[in-house]
Amino acid sequence: MRIALGEIVQETGSFTPSRMGRAAFEAYGLYQGAELLTQLPGVGPPGGFLQVAQMQDETVEVVPLVRAWAGAGAKILDETSDELLEMLLQPLRDAGQLDAVYLSLHGAASSEREDDLEGAILAAVRDVIGPDVPLVCPLDHHANITARMVDCADLLVGHETQPHDPLATGVKAARLLFDWLRTGCRPAIAWRKIPMITPQDQFLTSGGPMKEWFDRARALEQEPGVLDVSPYPMQPWLDVAEGGWAVVVHTEDDAVLADQLAAEMGALAWELRAAFWQSERVEVAEAVRRAYAHEDGLLVLSDTGDSVYGGAPGDSTWILRELLRQAAGQPETDRTMLVPIVDRAAFDVALAAGVGAEITVSLGGKIDQQFNQPVSATGTVVAVSERHQADIEERGSVEVGGVALLQVGPVHIAVLASAGFAICHPVLYQHLGLEIEQARAVVVKTASNFQFFAPWRKELIRVDSPGMTQSDLAAFTWTRTPRPIYPFDVNVTWDAAAAGAS
Ligand SMILES: [Zn+2]
Repeated sequence: MRIALGEIVQETGSFTPSRMGRAAFEAYGLYQGAELLTQLPGVGPPGGFLQVAQMQDETVEVVPLVRAWAGAGAKILDETSDELLEMLLQPLRDAGQLDAVYLSLHGAASSEREDDLEGAILAAVRDVIGPDVPLVCPLDHHANITARMVDCADLLVGHETQPHDPLATGVKAARLLFDWLRTGCRPAIAWRKIPMITPQDQFLTSGGPMKEWFDRARALEQEPGVLDVSPYPMQPWLDVAEGGWAVVVHTEDDAVLADQLAAEMGALAWELRAAFWQSERVEVAEAVRRAYAHEDGLLVLSDTGDSVYGGAPGDSTWILRELLRQAAGQPETDRTMLVPIVDRAAFDVALAAGVGAEITVSLGGKIDQQFNQPVSATGTVVAVSERHQADIEERGSVEVGGVALLQVGPVHIAVLASAGFAICHPVLYQHLGLEIEQARAVVVKTASNFQFFAPWRKELIRVDSPGMTQSDLAAFTWTRTPRPIYPFDVNVTWDAAAAGAS
């Protein structure tokens, strides 16, 4: 049995003004050919596939294509997306007879010219392999499902949890593929596009309406003949032609059942739409006041407007400015406030000055100039790291680029030369010699992925910071999203049963 394996993953923030090139993919390991087989065991959905492939009775020959993973960020440069696509297609053209293609995608990637990058990739792959070869895609559940994706792929399988479960999603999709290859029974697919968009505040699957929606999916999967029910609450900073939530259902071969369940899942999301807009965000100055008053264990300040994992640039100054302003009135303390900021020029200044030097720099507010302004800080450079390679469980080898630690009283500012995975991970501070248990609070540039600080975290505040991933979605200028859509348009009506697969 011969199955081709590939991955092209990026999550685009449409409102982030910069562009992403090849270097962002290289920072996470841009692998080709046999490198995939040595680098990807245990890592992400491809790791899940490799695990299941190994357990088959029949020997599975894995034909490695390309692995390009870049987290989240701005739209991808056309030249980069063209290059990555060719790295995927060339070995596919040369592969000869295949029994299936297993292709890990995010689902919310855009390039400069292509709103629906995954649709374009799947169409190109389908073109090479023809209509009959199974094409299976594990996806991020913040994907934007499009008609072209559903047309071109046979199986679209989303994450079951937020924070995500990439390896488990890979296992799930792989099992469905091998069951299909064993039985010869092509799964049926049905879906609904749901005309709604919501902020990230209720995105965790551990509680609230999101738990209710995802629990319903898991329950339906227990019914006879149902293979997969994947809800897709699209990430909310994607301004694209077919933007909006969706649900995809696969059954063994019962198209009518698949359609009924897609309608039921669509209707449930629609019914809960107001609950998805409930927010617990705290205004910036009040959040920082609470942070300085915090005593027991670590407080996590979620910089919701500057979620790097959602595509924001990581150079928001809203919380930093307030931390510096309120630091003036604080007593001497050995408990630190940890805050990251992306600013290449400031990093260069710190690097040139060296450890022990006192510097005055302008920080942040340079990439996102719409919602942010730079803040000036005078402090001591206490550590500098030009490059560090970190191994993150289930994520693989991750490069931490240049980081300088600038201390201003109790505030320790991690000045990053570029945004990356480490910005929300303890390794950012640990590799500079800081201990997380010494900290009073840490700012994370994410609205959902707090899990890496879980061992220390005692409290969480969702800070209502303006920025490219802010929860106030109405503040963005939407030009591509289809209308009407809830809640931007008043009195939007939608009937999941009548909508049919459109
Ligand atoms: Zn996601």
